[in-house]
Amino acid sequence: MSHADPARVEQVRANLHAARARIETACLKADRDPSEVSLIAVTKTHPASDVRILASLGVTDVGENRDQEAAPKAAETADLGLTWHFVGQLQTNKARSVASYADVVHSVDRAKLARALGERAEAAGRRLTCLVQVNLDEDSRAGVIGPRGGVDPADALELAARVEEQDALTLGGVMAVAPLGGDPSQAFARLKGVADRIRDRYARATMVSAGMTADLESAVARGATHVRLGTALLGDRGPIVG
Ligand SMILES: *Cc1c(COP(=O)(O)O)cnc(C)c1O
Repeated sequence: MSHADPARVEQVRANLHAARARIETACLKADRDPSEVSLIAVTKTHPASDVRILASLGVTDVGENRDQEAAPKAAETADLGLTWHFVGQLQTNKARSVASYADVVHSVDRAKLARALGERAEAAGRRLTCLVQVNLDEDSRAGVIGPRGGVDPADALELAARVEEQDALTLGGVMAVAPLGGDPSQAFARLKGVADRIRDRYARATMVSAGMTADLESAVARGATHVRLGTALLGDRGPIVG
């Protein structure tokens, strides 16, 4: 931390303070205890130095959406003891790499991926918590916009069972991204229904990963336990290269 840019530290500190205040206000409005909602800092496109700043400010959970960026960043900051969340679409051939540093994979959307992660985690002697990613975008399920990731809500329970049968995987719950242009509140309500059905069968699967910078309030109102915040904490992202 001795080399951290003081202006950047102050900016991130203020952003973090404001984001925590938003979560708290949303919880109070929804009659929920703020301790029920965890913040995951999504650091994609931002340098490892920002991860260090976040950690110095008390952030314990960080998220990334591309393995080629996440793997070196996690290695560079391994001394911080952070919990790493993988939140992006994941190809099976990246399962070995992701299983080597991630603690939680939010984007399990097919049985083949659950199996690959289970086998890779087992081989590495690691345990992964996995969330079933649910597709809340009816247009993309109908093939109108194209896939945004996630299993059809009707198939989520079946996929949860595929995660559960892997010894090295723990079923944590569900994750979703609100559909573009839709009503996030309606989408998150649907996610809550799926989350409840899964938790009825698997009592430990209590995580509901929902809500980003633009829609964290409606996610908290609909039962999110984990919000994934990038822009709110670190500012706008430049164009994604590579
Ligand atoms: C980038 C990303 C986020 C954070 O988005 P912001 O709008 O910057 O808060 C959350 N979840 C996923 C899956 C992401 O890819």
